[in-house]
Amino acid sequence: MNLGLSLLYAAERTPDAGAVVDGDSRLDYRGLQRVAAGVAAGLAALGVGRGDRVALVLKNRRQTVELYWACQWLGAVVVPLSWRVAAADVAYCVADSGATVVAFEEVGLEHARACSDAADRFVAVGTGGAGSSVDLAARFCAGDDAQPCEPYESLLAAGEAVGAPLGLDDRETSIFLYTSGTTGRPKGVPRSHAAERAGGVSQALHQSYRPGERTLGVMPLYHTMGIHTLLAAQIVGGCFVCQPDWDAASALDLISAERIGSLYLAPTLFHDLVHSPGLAGADVSSVRSLAYAGAAMTGALVERCVEVFAPEVFINHYGSTEVYTYSVHFDQQAAPGCAGRPAINARLRLVRPEVGAGPDDEVEPGETGEIICHLGSDEAFAGYWNRPDADAKALRDGWYFTGDLGRLDGDGNLWIVGRIDDMIISGGENVHPLEVEDVLERAPGVREVAVVGLPDDRWGQAVTAFVVLDDEVAGAGTEAAAARLDAHCLASAGLARFKRPRRYRFPDSLPKSPSGKILRRLLREEFAEPSGSPL
Ligand code: AMP
Repeated sequence: MNLGLSLLYAAERTPDAGAVVDGDSRLDYRGLQRVAAGVAAGLAALGVGRGDRVALVLKNRRQTVELYWACQWLGAVVVPLSWRVAAADVAYCVADSGATVVAFEEVGLEHARACSDAADRFVAVGTGGAGSSVDLAARFCAGDDAQPCEPYESLLAAGEAVGAPLGLDDRETSIFLYTSGTTGRPKGVPRSHAAERAGGVSQALHQSYRPGERTLGVMPLYHTMGIHTLLAAQIVGGCFVCQPDWDAASALDLISAERIGSLYLAPTLFHDLVHSPGLAGADVSSVRSLAYAGAAMTGALVERCVEVFAPEVFINHYGSTEVYTYSVHFDQQAAPGCAGRPAINARLRLVRPEVGAGPDDEVEPGETGEIICHLGSDEAFAGYWNRPDADAKALRDGWYFTGDLGRLDGDGNLWIVGRIDDMIISGGENVHPLEVEDVLERAPGVREVAVVGLPDDRWGQAVTAFVVLDDEVAGAGTEAAAARLDAHCLASAGLARFKRPRRYRFPDSLPKSPSGKILRRLLREEFAEPSGSPL
């Protein structure tokens, strides 16, 4: 079933159920389907047809959701892009995807201007109603070489596009997601209607969504977690409560005011929520289902989440932009950080992490290997956009090579060890950042930690820890802190002596992607010159 039909079915099945909340605006499924058909007609009037790309530089708002569904209704391909990156990166993705229309809000004005050469029609989305869209469009048009720009609300003047999805094959492309590009330029990941819907269904099932589920829409809609939260909610006639900007206090307000039942967030956002000063006065009793993805949660954070939410299910979802769900673990309280078993649509293997290894080069039981996922998955992509080099690297003999390292425990459960590219080779030994981070995170006064290998004459790479300390511990001085952390590592039975950090640095915060991944690459680049507090 294509996603236009999926919306139509929901609108007929539960027309009055709440679909989207954004501040004071509320839309039920009947209303959402009508607006989507209206915006689809407006896009068609701008020349957008089936298979054409429409780029969005928008936060999580009602209009973003409407434009998303309008594209599905029209059979156009939605290309949601991050407004957090530089304007030139957005322009690169717009040109790469071949998008002809760019819809943007205030925060994306400069990004949209940078796309004047690539796209020829622009849509200004004012966040204060029709007047502000007109104003934003006028400001865009006042720039040099500006292309035509319509205020968002004018798209609705064209009537409704009727019946468009009825003939659309679900193998056609629904969306391009751009990978955050932890290495090199971003890669376009085209995903079909069928793969997207399968991802939404599996999320709804794995995370125990109920009919009419209410979920917090704060993971960005340009990221696979945000889009599938929208889809999973739609599949059960549920409601996506938009939060355009992350802040824990407003999230707590939305949770209690909107009776949110499920939270699916990056670990960093859970960290902010459960340490928020506003928590004491907040009513979070409606939350039943907790899920996280993007990075492993520490045991301490899992415990705190259990104390705060007492969830019925607490899920670790391991997946990616390319194949939405690889594996799921359903009881994080029992095994914090464990990635569990293959998800309903997945088949996984662990193979030798060597250049040229194929799907049959499986590792011995208990050994660490590269995680690969069978491309027969209903949720799998079929290859990158315009990137035969990336296809050649990642797609081999019907399997997707994830670039992640993992191992199975005695019960057959998967544990993620880290990215192959993050592995440190120090004194000829392999050290995985996560195993060192796990130990350091347990030391008193440590708020957050990232471990990377930095160039070192003696070791080749020196295991280096970037540690964010609590104010109290930081006050005692960095040398004392480094000595205490070293003593803590030496006393930890689980960590071999040679794996402990040789250097420490104490920044105020760590660089992170929107899905909460620590950007170790940035730390490696910024601190390529050996320095810090050697031990
Ligand atoms: P993205 O395409 O941005 O969703 O990133 C996918 C990558 O994030 C995976 O290949 C993993 O490296 C990492 N990842 C996703 N989910 C998890 C998880 N639950 N635990 C550990 N790493 C994860």
